[in-house]
Amino acid sequence: MTSHIMPTYGRLPVTFERGAGAWLWDTNNKRYLDALSGIAVCNLGHAHPAVHRAICKQSEALLHTSNVYGVAAQERLADRLIEKSGMDNVFFCNSGAEANEAAIKLARLYAHQRNIKNPAIIVMEKSFHGRTLATLSATGNTKVQQGFAPLVEGFVRVPYNDVSAIEQAIKHHDNIVAVLVEPIQGEGGVNIPASDYLNRIRSLCDQYDLLMMLDEIQTGIGRTGKFLAYQHNAIMPDVCTLAKALGNGVPIGACLARGKAAQLFTTGSHGSTFGGNPLACSAALAVLEALDSENLIEQAEQKGSAISDGFSKQLAGNPHVVDVRHKGLMIGIELDAPCAELVQSALEQGLLINVTSEKTIRLLPPLIIDDQQINQLVETLSALIQEHTRQCL
Ligand SMILES: *Cc1c(COP(=O)(O)O)cnc(C)c1O
Repeated sequence: MTSHIMPTYGRLPVTFERGAGAWLWDTNNKRYLDALSGIAVCNLGHAHPAVHRAICKQSEALLHTSNVYGVAAQERLADRLIEKSGMDNVFFCNSGAEANEAAIKLARLYAHQRNIKNPAIIVMEKSFHGRTLATLSATGNTKVQQGFAPLVEGFVRVPYNDVSAIEQAIKHHDNIVAVLVEPIQGEGGVNIPASDYLNRIRSLCDQYDLLMMLDEIQTGIGRTGKFLAYQHNAIMPDVCTLAKALGNGVPIGACLARGKAAQLFTTGSHGSTFGGNPLACSAALAVLEALDSENLIEQAEQKGSAISDGFSKQLAGNPHVVDVRHKGLMIGIELDAPCAELVQSALEQGLLINVTSEKTIRLLPPLIIDDQQINQLVETLSALIQEHTRQCL
């Protein structure tokens, strides 16, 4: 059978039909443990009852009106996000790439306000910011950019986790207006920077009057053991982008701004038909409430340590395991050679994982994963890694 879908994805040979918590069932009724959460989207697991109820209730009342009218759920969601983030205001959209587009547009407005005609944003090697033209131009991966020239101008790239490279770039260019960075690089290989990396970027941005823009699309919404990853550093960014887990599977993105960055968009300067519609905002409100009422953010910290300790113990002495690292439930197991085949062998064992940056097994389990499931994850995957490194490397 030929598919009529454009072949943009390399798909695994499985189709899921239903889910519950950390479990998924395929079309043959085989059960899988989901340690990827749709790439950090379903942080509350599948078919979460509160999200289900919120969507049903809202769809009974109203799905969409338009941003030419007031939207009550959008106002309430903005209030909750501002309360939880410490930011000042928010623009709602439908995806991560769109949230970063809004951030990039804010940086451009900020530049022109300061009379910088040809502004540039500092971005990182191995970063990932999305697939639209501006966000793929910001992304530090030539595979993502291949074939799409001319790229959007105005990005200066430096190595990740290198503050002096940022400072050098600022000094060598007279047009830098912002720094766009992930608190932990997800697609780039679960790269966790030095614990004071964000603090030092904050200081540089203060010193040179730049916008500090954090892409928290993967790290946000409790994933790393805080609501937002920058809260580990006790700093505030000027711009922060969210998407993925905000709707637990209902598409929604958000660009949060603070201080001078919060005054840049004015009537008519940005917009989105679906952005912040009643359905998506009701889902997101239910997500935020469940995170608090079920104490899931604290659990992310404990569970992440349990999983990481489990792997460190099981894989101790394996010379092909370069590193086991984690922040909350964002977990990377780096091997010394490419290991993409592990995804398929895990699938056969009923376990969903991901390999990113070729050599790093990436785990993003739902925050509701329980102790038994944690054991199953550690046991199954450790055995697969042991076998893989014995045979292939
Ligand atoms: C997934 C991701 C994006 C892109 O989000 P989309 O919703 O796919 O557009 C951007 N930045 C980071 C860090 C991501 O993980």
